[in-house]
Amino acid sequence: MILDGKALSRKVREEVKQRVDRIRERDITPRLDAFVADDDPASVAYVGMKHRWGEKAGIVGESYSVTAETKQEWLIEKISELNADPSVHGVLIQHPLPKHLDENAALEALGAEKDVDGISPQSLGRLLAGIPGFRCATPLGMMRILDEYGIECKGKHAVVIGRSIILGKPAALMLLERHATVTICHSRTEDLPSVCRSADILVAAVGRPEMVRGDWIKPGAVVLDAGFNKVEGRDKDVGDVHFESASQVASHITPVPGGVGPMTVAMLLSNVVDAAESVAGER
Ligand code: NAP
Repeated sequence: MILDGKALSRKVREEVKQRVDRIRERDITPRLDAFVADDDPASVAYVGMKHRWGEKAGIVGESYSVTAETKQEWLIEKISELNADPSVHGVLIQHPLPKHLDENAALEALGAEKDVDGISPQSLGRLLAGIPGFRCATPLGMMRILDEYGIECKGKHAVVIGRSIILGKPAALMLLERHATVTICHSRTEDLPSVCRSADILVAAVGRPEMVRGDWIKPGAVVLDAGFNKVEGRDKDVGDVHFESASQVASHITPVPGGVGPMTVAMLLSNVVDAAESVAGER
């Protein structure tokens, strides 16, 4: 079965819109502001899409350009200003910022109640501790896909390939929270194909086009592919999983595009509305 993240993303955004309509009746307009590196076309495109989809759901927001001239002091001051501004419900620091800026310090300066992307040390600490807080949008989107299709994690062996802060690690923790037995793999893992073959749920978050082949997959496994890779000569982006061979073996699989990707934006917007609802005392 194809796990249709595109259709589910539409459904989540429709839910978001209904919640925004309700909260606007109380004169609260959810707002997401973002910092984006001006000279990174992918970041500009991602943030543009987040704002466009947000606007369609009634979420407003501003983008602040970060350039080679931007000073760290300005960035931290601006973040503090947004932390203190009650009309701003969420702040996104789009990765990567220009190299001369300290991105970790920026994330540490961001108030946990505004970190709707769920990647600050405060939010990740809350996930680790199992206490409420914003969860990272991409792995949260994967969990929503599992819920939507009634896929149980309890007692299953989940293998996550990748240990990045924004994807692999939080995905592993979320699966653990759902009582899966979790293995995290990375570039030094020995005999990766064998480890993958033991997975009931396989998450690919590697950034290597079509690395995971059909013969790495246990028959009947659930495969979630977070990969999004440009390949020269191919007109569409490809995942970390070789879809043609993997889909012959897996019971459920996310396609690329149209799987995990669209869910990321939908879950981010859902987090923004969560933030606005908690300001309104609704949560
Ligand atoms: P990343 O920070 O580069 O992390 C990649 C991880 O994969 C690292 O932990 C690395 O191991 C591991 N890895 C690399 N090569 C490997 C190999 N040959 N065997 C085993 N493990 C290997 O990437 P990321 O930001 O997590 O992104 C991963 C993928 O998801 C990319 O394709 C990216 O475009 C995509 N992505 C999608 C969304 C979305 O919204 N759908 C959002 C973010 C990212 P080490 O730690 O040992 O180096």
